Amino acid sequence: MSQVYNFGAGPAMLPVPVMERIRDEFLDFKSMGISIIEISHRAKQFEQVLLDAQERFRQLIDLPDNYKILFVHGGARMQFSALPMNLAGRSPSKKCLYVETGNFAKLANKDAKPFGDIRVIANSADTNYSYLPEITAEMIDQDAAYLHMTTNNTIYGSRYNTFPDTGKVPLIADQTSEILSRVIDYSKFGCIYAGLQKNLGPSGTAIVVIREDLLGHASPETPVLLNYEQCAKDNSLTNTANTFAIYVTGLVLDWLQEQGGVAAIEKINEQKAKTLYDVIDAGDYYRGVIQAEFRGTMNVSFNLPSEELEAKFLKEAGALGLYALKGHRSVGGIRASIYNAMPLAGVEALAGFMKEFESKNG
Ligand SMILES: *Cc1c(COP(=O)(O)O)cnc(C)c1O
Repeated sequence: MSQVYNFGAGPAMLPVPVMERIRDEFLDFKSMGISIIEISHRAKQFEQVLLDAQERFRQLIDLPDNYKILFVHGGARMQFSALPMNLAGRSPSKKCLYVETGNFAKLANKDAKPFGDIRVIANSADTNYSYLPEITAEMIDQDAAYLHMTTNNTIYGSRYNTFPDTGKVPLIADQTSEILSRVIDYSKFGCIYAGLQKNLGPSGTAIVVIREDLLGHASPETPVLLNYEQCAKDNSLTNTANTFAIYVTGLVLDWLQEQGGVAAIEKINEQKAKTLYDVIDAGDYYRGVIQAEFRGTMNVSFNLPSEELEAKFLKEAGALGLYALKGHRSVGGIRASIYNAMPLAGVEALAGFMKEFESKNG
């Protein structure tokens, strides 16, 4: 098997040492003679896996004690509905503020509509989300239940580098495509969440981090399994948790700790993104999808001079083991997702291919 680098946006590549460990202990977990996916979610061996993952996550992001860490079903998108169900009731007006900076940010406010008075206070749809609108204090109605934003916009690669001061309105962030990729002061947030499948583990489950005072406001119609207060009370074991996803996440978190933690991986992530943007910025053959000042480090989206060249690029890249570089259908072109698990060598291989392709097809 020749070397393949997986640039897929999610489910995304996982660190090779993590997958080797899963393979090695798959049939015999902790000398039990059975697999981690066969034991009860209430077995003490699994409970330890869960507690260790939560503790490691808390350490890695330096999370204050007054926040709960939950593992919930339905991936990131289920939280688009769960958030207003749990939180709109904090304000008698049920006003919920949204910043729309991409496709997922739009779905987040669309899915929330049945459960609150949804107000989009800033929106960059006019340019197909090529920039991030500024969020100022005057835009934030202090009567609102919360303000929701997507800190990293996966399809375009744009990222908020600073976060608004929201006063007493809790700031909520979808961080699915950037969780643990950079140091963030989480005490500024009321709640953050992320589907596991980009920087943490398998798909279908999300991690939700929520400040304790935000629990207990769920509307009475909230399904039990979407109720964050119930989930916190049961420590994510209201029903059968996705034990395998939590186990893999724990291994990924241990791996990240071995890499030196979030501050260390942030430096590598910056180097990886710069390696690609340097090629893009070297001429006008490659054109970035977003304005340069809004670039993040996890997703690098760009176009070539024509769709024909993009198709050729994808075909030749694929043949070289540079996998899943096709951009999202809403922007076309190329997207390289370079999450924590992507080694610098993979990014260098792509950058080398880009230079070569340009010189042959320029
Ligand atoms: C991938 C992604 C989602 C969707 O995650 P699902 O687990 O498929 O629901 C939501 N938000 C952002 C920012 C994403 O990158």
